[in-house]
Order: sequence, then C-alpha cells, then structure tokens
Amino acid sequence: MSEAAWERPVLVLNAGSSSLKYQLVVPETGEVRSRGLVERIGETGSEVADHSVALQQVAERLRTEGIDLDAFSLRAVGHRVVHGGPDFSEPVVIDDEVLDRIRELSALAPLHNPAAAIGIEAARKRFAVPHVAVFDTAFFSSLPPEASTYAVPRDLAAKHAIRRYGFHGTSHQYVAQATADLLGRPVEDLRQVVLHLGNGCSASAVRGGRAVDTSMGLTPLEGLVMGTRSGDVDPGLHAYLGREAGLSLEEIDTLLNKQSGVLGLSGVNDFRELEHRLATGDPDARLAFDVVVHRLKHYVGAYLAILGGIDALVFTAGVGENSISVRAAVTDGLEGLGIEVDRARNAARSTQARVISPAGATVAVAVVPTNEELAIARQTAEIVR
Ligand code: AMP
Repeated sequence: MSEAAWERPVLVLNAGSSSLKYQLVVPETGEVRSRGLVERIGETGSEVADHSVALQQVAERLRTEGIDLDAFSLRAVGHRVVHGGPDFSEPVVIDDEVLDRIRELSALAPLHNPAAAIGIEAARKRFAVPHVAVFDTAFFSSLPPEASTYAVPRDLAAKHAIRRYGFHGTSHQYVAQATADLLGRPVEDLRQVVLHLGNGCSASAVRGGRAVDTSMGLTPLEGLVMGTRSGDVDPGLHAYLGREAGLSLEEIDTLLNKQSGVLGLSGVNDFRELEHRLATGDPDARLAFDVVVHRLKHYVGAYLAILGGIDALVFTAGVGENSISVRAAVTDGLEGLGIEVDRARNAARSTQARVISPAGATVAVAVVPTNEELAIARQTAEIVR
C-alpha cells in the first residue's frame, strides 16, 4: 500500500564513531514510528563490524516492528553532521562533493565528522533516496563578525578557518521557534536567551529568530561548564600545563574535554547524580553546582547586554528540562532585571513546553523540550520537497 507523500517518514541518523542513533519520524506530525541505538560498532568482540552492518541491523529491527524500509517508501534520510565549517550555512542534499567536504572538515571536528561521513557513506549505499546533511553549526553562521571573530592574527585565522562556529544549532533554532509558538508571538519579535543544558551545554542569544551570539566556539569546548568539559578557561592554561605539568597537546585536549567540568570538580558527570550528592551535603558537589550556575549567570548577563534586554529566557535539554534547582539558581537574584520563576510552576513536572515565570512578568522564563530529530526530519523534508 502506498502512503500519501506527506505521511512518508524520514529516517534520521546520528552516527558516532562507535554508535548509530536512528529515528523514523513523520516531519509534519512529529509521529515517531521507531527509534533506537546500535552500539559498540567496530569494537573488538562486537557483532557489529562497521556502520554498514549497523544499518543492516536497523533495517532488521524495523522489520521485526512491522516496518519494511525497502518495500515502503522512505522519503529521505537526514544526517546529523556536527561541523559544517565555513562552507555550510544550511542543510544540503548530499552528493559526492558534499561528502568529500564533510570529510575534509574533520580537522575541525576530529571526533565527529569522520563518523558522520562513514555513516553517510553506508546509508547512501543502503537507501536509494535523497540524503540530506543537517549541520550543528549552521544556525550560528549568522553570527555577526564581532561575535564570530577571535582576536588572533587575521591571516592565520583565514588560513586555518579559525572562527567561532557554535554547536547545538539545530536545537537552539528549534527551541527558539518553539518558544515563540508557546508564547503565541512571532519569533521575529523576540529577543531570547536559550540555554541548552545537557551533557554538552551551550547558550545562545537569538534576535528575531537569528543567532547573534553563542557560547561554543571553534570547538564545543568553549563556554559553559559541562558534564566533562571545562568550558571557558584562561587560554594561557594550555601553555602553563605544558610547561608545569609536562602534558602534551593531546593530553591537554583530553583533560579539558573528557576529565573536567562537573566530573573534574565532583567526581560524577551525570547531573542527577550530582544533585543526589548535593542533597547529602557533599562539598565537592556543592562547588561544582555553584561553578556551573555562576558560569550560566555570566552568559545570561552577557547576552542580556548584547541583546539590550530580553523577552524570553529558555531552558532546554536534559538538565534544562528537568533540573528544578538549576533553573531556580540561575534566575535567583535577577528579579531586578525582570527575570524570575514562580516556585510552583518551576517545580511542576511536565514533558510539555511551559512558562515558569509568574503571570505578568516582563521576561518569560520557559522550559521548552528540544527535539533535534524532528528538527532534522523537518529540514530534510523541506529541502527534498
Ligand atoms: P542530554 O544530553 O540532553 O540527554 O542531557 C543529559 C543530562 O541531563 C545528564 O547530565 C542527566 O543527568 C541530566 N538529567 C536528565 N534527567 C534529569 C533530571 N530529572 N534531573 C536532573 N538532571 C537530569
């Protein structure tokens, strides 16, 4: 039975070096037909030798769920690609040239782009439908030069494509629009600060639906304190660690990306676990929480100044959507700036987008669940239409 074009789903793929996340979603309705994760790809002793085998597994799993990807009409495949570098400011239909370029951008995202390229290659062989790349950096290609430029010699920056790119763009864009929908106002009329707080954390300043600043930079290391990433440090720390601790560049990179942040300060990287420890009076957990919140306030204040005031402050992703204490702490003491949360509204559990500021507040404080897969599916459907 052939389905109407608008009912046909998009397969959204997010390929990591050893994992493949998938979701089969109908862009117009948001209906998720299936979702899942294949792990341990290419690891010793794993049954999943590579991403082609992983895709085969996905097709088989779907078949057991009664979905035959080969027999029924898949509309397109949307691929999450972390780094679009200076070239990609919008989603693109993938051809050989685009795939080559994504591979070439691996210097900027050595952990992410090679995996995405492998996933794309395998999926193009497996599914004879249009494939679209949706870049995590794209939403931030609109950053004005004063926000995207590092004060380093210009010729060097030009030669190595050094600038602030930003990440989590698909999420920030989706949430900014969803917030406008929630408030019943055109996104063009709003100045928003969006806080994407998950394992990775980033803040953005959004004016009229366009990003004007963001906390992540050349790499996802800059900005907020995250689960295992330090966020902002004195750039002089690198040279100091090299000299005084005898660490190599690679060791410093690993230290700041994988062993720092909440993990480095408290010994745990999961925020739920941090909150448990906080409740037991653990002083390391207390400091970690306070450092996270201090940095968040730092960025909220910065973006308030850059935007000249805000209409909405929005929390999203795992911590942002669920942590009552983080939302309370970040907004604490900001009443003078028109920013406050209503205690009961903040404490109410929900999976829906909602306003948590008191009625009549100047700034709407909102919790808006992100949905990167749906955003990728929609952008994919849009471009192949
Ligand atoms: P994400 O990367 O968006 O999946 O977010 C993952 C983070 O969200 C982890 O640090 C989780 O501990 C955190 N998280 C998930 N649920 C909760 C919760 N109920 N309370 C606090 N943090 C949570």
